[in-house]
Amino acid sequence: MKEEEEKYRDSLATVNERGNRNWIFAKQPKGRLYNARTVVSVCCFLLFFSLPFIHINGRPLFLFNVVDGRFILFGAVFWPQDFFIFGLVMVAFILFIVLFTMAFGRLFCGWVCPQTIFMEMLFRRIEYMIEGTAAAQKVLNRGPWTTQKAIKKILKHSIFFLLSFFIANTFLAYIIGTGELWKIVTEPLSAHAGGFAAIMVFSFVFYAVFAFFREQVCTIVCPYGRLQSVLLDKDSVVVAYDHARGEPRGKLSKKETGKKDCSCTNCGGCSRIIPPPMGDCIDCLQCVQVCPTGIDIRNGTQLECINCTACMDACDFMMEKTGRPKGLIRYASENGITEKKKLRFTPRLKTYTTVLLLLITAITVMLASRKPAGATVMRTAGMLYQERGKDSISNLYRIKLINKTTADMPVTLRLDGIEGRVELIGHPYIRIKAEGQGEGTFFIVLPRHAVSKRKSMLKIGLYEGSKQVLSTRTTFLGPVK
Ligand code: SF4
Ligand code: SF4
Repeated sequence: MKEEEEKYRDSLATVNERGNRNWIFAKQPKGRLYNARTVVSVCCFLLFFSLPFIHINGRPLFLFNVVDGRFILFGAVFWPQDFFIFGLVMVAFILFIVLFTMAFGRLFCGWVCPQTIFMEMLFRRIEYMIEGTAAAQKVLNRGPWTTQKAIKKILKHSIFFLLSFFIANTFLAYIIGTGELWKIVTEPLSAHAGGFAAIMVFSFVFYAVFAFFREQVCTIVCPYGRLQSVLLDKDSVVVAYDHARGEPRGKLSKKETGKKDCSCTNCGGCSRIIPPPMGDCIDCLQCVQVCPTGIDIRNGTQLECINCTACMDACDFMMEKTGRPKGLIRYASENGITEKKKLRFTPRLKTYTTVLLLLITAITVMLASRKPAGATVMRTAGMLYQERGKDSISNLYRIKLINKTTADMPVTLRLDGIEGRVELIGHPYIRIKAEGQGEGTFFIVLPRHAVSKRKSMLKIGLYEGSKQVLSTRTTFLGPVK
């Protein structure tokens, strides 16, 4: 019996017994959660489509230029030298997702994941508009090809592709910036063949995902969904069916629905229905019909559930219709349902929260103390020291500089904490362009009496005017004493 109950775990709702795709015709949800998700999605769309166009001090707010290794987060430029900070931000982000999932399940998937909101709130809505309800779509798909069917299909797929093209352009703007994107769009194709190819590849990928692949992204491809089994525990809050209240399920009979809870026979004003001698689930399957991944949430938490809450709206509607309390399917933890327990702050949650707080503190400190410039100093390879007359010794160096600010930076070099001087070759200073790189060659000259070892460590200060922007270290070679 147990095996029979668990059988649903052996197959995917989107694959039939012959291994073919089981196309999901999800009914459009209606209800307060669907309305709330619509509002959240509109906010997300506004953010997604506007963020690449927002510039602060001439810089985009966000840029993820993986090609040139240039990243901008909230207007701050991250160079390859800052990658340890970037790495830490990513670790903190992953940890946040882990912690969040342990506490609130896949809330992220249902409410803000781009795949879900684009699929459910944009592409599927367009499908409802063009092809009608889920039932109408099923009839259309299974019916023969007619002019009307062809028009509907062409119209739907054209709009899907146009939207995918628009999303691909925006997506690319996050990678190369709006300036470069504008050039690709406005300048001759031959000048930007690579960029144009990238736009088309992204467009076709998005189109294929939203028109055909759909919910399989969440059930087959997305690693986050697959991690659920290790992240969720019985205290995690998920979209859950209250089996204690719902079972044994059973269809409503007319006799049961017509009963009143008083013995009087003539008032006619009482409409309260006596619950049938069974659980509250009336087995109407509305929760299954609205599910975009085609599952039955009454079987328990499943990998395919993206916590979209469509089944909550559908079930609440049925509960209201039949005079039962809402919330048969609701946000709850397994323990909350079986033991009537509230969300607990488990030791696992405490540990993750502590680690997360430590990481956030470390990142904040690192970001706050981040220098406006970066420098790499290298002593010229294969060269020993040079004698400068009788009383001085010099070493030759090369310096590479990065300016992380939006203004040009003229930089001079000085020795810190030791007698001696820096002699820049060619210019009295190195000019580093805004958000650019610069380099130079220089001697460090030390009086002979200051060189006590074969190899000593020196501190070099980089100054913009009288303001020190950076301090770096290098070695100095001297004669053996
Ligand atoms: S079971 Fe409910 S919450 Fe989960 S994906 Fe289906 S409709 Fe959405
Ligand atoms: S919508 Fe509610 S009542 Fe209907 S089958 Fe699903 S859980 Fe049962």
